[in-house]
Amino acid sequence: MIPVIALVGRPNVGKSTLFNRLTRTRDALVADFPGLTRDRQYGEGKVGGFPYIVIDTGGISGDEEGIDAEMARQSLRAIDEADLVLFIVDARAGLTAADEMIAQYLRVNNKPAQLVVNKTDGLDALSFSAEFYALGFAQEPWMIAAAHNRGVTSMITRLLTDL
Ligand code: GDP
Ligand code: MG
Repeated sequence: MIPVIALVGRPNVGKSTLFNRLTRTRDALVADFPGLTRDRQYGEGKVGGFPYIVIDTGGISGDEEGIDAEMARQSLRAIDEADLVLFIVDARAGLTAADEMIAQYLRVNNKPAQLVVNKTDGLDALSFSAEFYALGFAQEPWMIAAAHNRGVTSMITRLLTDL
């Protein structure tokens, strides 16, 4: 079975940018405003001979109505389908209530999840990493900058060999 990895997090944290890196396509819509990717989007990738499937999601913002509610439902379905969830947070925005809600959902549902701190480019790791430890993940967060392809290949290589 090819492992399925779901990219989950608030809108605008960089999920689609990471999806494009992991699948080497431009399939997902990357936008400067939140919420453009309404549906789940599937892509394939391969690293070191290991194939995988990635699911991009529209995002969970925490106060969903209308189209946002559907986006959140799609995200929850992607979590159910996944062998591994990459929970993406934004180093620039810092920790938010929605991040805490998503972390709680993953915990309650006992999903294998890894915390990924994106947009770390140009920031001092010490200045933002501490607050994300409050989310209670056992493992160290992955520090990446998807837009600059920094940390992405080593992260996916390691995650796939550990699966
Ligand atoms: P999504 O809503 O979670 O799918 O987020 P997107 O992938 O659409 O990205 C939202 C915005 O964040 C876009 O303007 C991206 O260019 C930007 N972005 C994504 N990754 C990074 C990164 O590593 N560093 C910085 N500075 N910006 C990023
Ligand atoms: Mg997106």
